[in-house]
This record gives sequence, structure tokens and C-alpha cells, in this order.
Amino acid sequence: MTPVVELREVTKTYPGDVTALDHVSVAIESGELVAVVGPSGSGKSTMLHLLGTLDRPSSGTVLIQGRDVSRLTDRKLSALRSRRIGFVFQQFHLAAGVSALDNVADGLLYGGVPPAERRRRARRALERVGLGHRLGHRPHQLSGGEKQRVAIARAVVGEPAMLLADEPTGALDSATGTGVIDLLRELAAGGTTVILITHDRDIADLLPRQVRMRDGRIERDDAWAEVAR
Ligand code: ADP
Repeated sequence: MTPVVELREVTKTYPGDVTALDHVSVAIESGELVAVVGPSGSGKSTMLHLLGTLDRPSSGTVLIQGRDVSRLTDRKLSALRSRRIGFVFQQFHLAAGVSALDNVADGLLYGGVPPAERRRRARRALERVGLGHRLGHRPHQLSGGEKQRVAIARAVVGEPAMLLADEPTGALDSATGTGVIDLLRELAAGGTTVILITHDRDIADLLPRQVRMRDGRIERDDAWAEVAR
């Protein structure tokens, strides 16, 4: 099967002779739930940016569903990104003063979907994350866990092939964070590939695959069968 996303011998250097990623190869299949773990500065965010096509490698190849993204123009790349990849961040990044429904509907702004259909799909996405009763709430009226669920609904409303999450539980207490992981697990079971960065070992231990980074390299890539847990 073609991986949803693959890095082949990817190196990323920054000015000042910093090698943030050093010949990294990794392939992630459809429906996988993967934690990228490692100390600060080990290259996790750089890897997430490259997996999400937000940045281009210095050398090596990034493939999204088998397609070498270096061959795409910036315009084609951003079209691919808006259709195939959802993003979630530690600090939610919801629009203040805007209802949960419209925050999620805005996730479809670039897809050419008419407004009524955007809202219909947004409602369905919010129901899917357990917030069907909070459609009209604005961010300041929501708890941290609810805000992150809204952000996740916004990220998946366009049914992307993969969801990339940068410390999605970092601003949440541990029980709420575990609830967010359960939600991500459900999304993965439904076929969405989920890749998240975490520095929290307890969170990483909840996930079936861990890619451990150190000094810009993959130190270990541990996968185990869900049934074994
Ligand atoms: P992590 O997410 O694991 O903390 P990063 O991917 O952010 O690691 O960073 C990896 C290395 O690359 C670090 O040494 C960091 O200082 C460096 N780095 C990250 N972004 C930049 C940048 N834009 N310019 C220069 N160096 C950077």
C-alpha cells in the first residue's frame, strides 16, 4: 500500500550550519496513529513542518500519497495541503468571538464549498467530536478540552488524509489530554492518519507507534500491535 506520507533521506539545514533533520526516512500508512517524541531541539517540529509540506527539505524527498511534492509549484502545494492535511496546535488558534460552528466551517473556506454546506458539514464534524451541544459557543465560553475538540473538528471537517498535531495536549490537564487522545484514536480508527508531537511520555505511551527523535535523527521507531496493549 502507498504510505500516506513518506520522508526519504530527508535533511533540513538552517542558516548558521544547523542540521535540524539528518537523513531521516520514515513512512506512515493510512489510519496510523503516531507519536513523534524526543527532547527539545531534536527536530520534531521540523519533521512535522516537512510532513505537512509547510517547509521544503534541503535534500531528500517528501511524498504525500506517493507524490513527490518537490515537483509541485507553491500554488499546487498549498491546494494539496488544504485538501489533504489538517493541522492542530497546542494553543488551539480559534478565531475569538466566532462561534464553534463558524470556526469549524472556516476550515472549508478554501475548498469552494458553498456557505450552507460548510455549516452543515461543520455541525457534523462538531457532533463527531462530541460538541453537538456547543455549536453557538464562542471560544471564551469553552473549556480548554472543548476548544481543542473544536480545533480538531476544524482540522478534519474537510476529511483530510492526515492530521498533524503539534503538542495537542500541551495546554490541557492530563485527564482532558487523555480525552483528546481518545478522540484522535477514534479518528485514526475511522481512517484518518494522525501524527502528533509530544514531549509527554505518558501521552506517547497511549499511542501504538512512537518515532523517537534525537539530534535530528530517528533514534527508534517502535510499533506494536494494538491488541498487545
Ligand atoms: P523540536 O521540535 O524537537 O524542539 P526543532 O525541529 O524545533 O526541534 O529544532 C531542531 C533544531 O533546529 C534546533 O537546534 C533548532 O534550534 C533548530 N531550528 C529550528 N528552526 C530553526 C530556524 N528557523 N532557523 C534556525 N534554526 C532552527
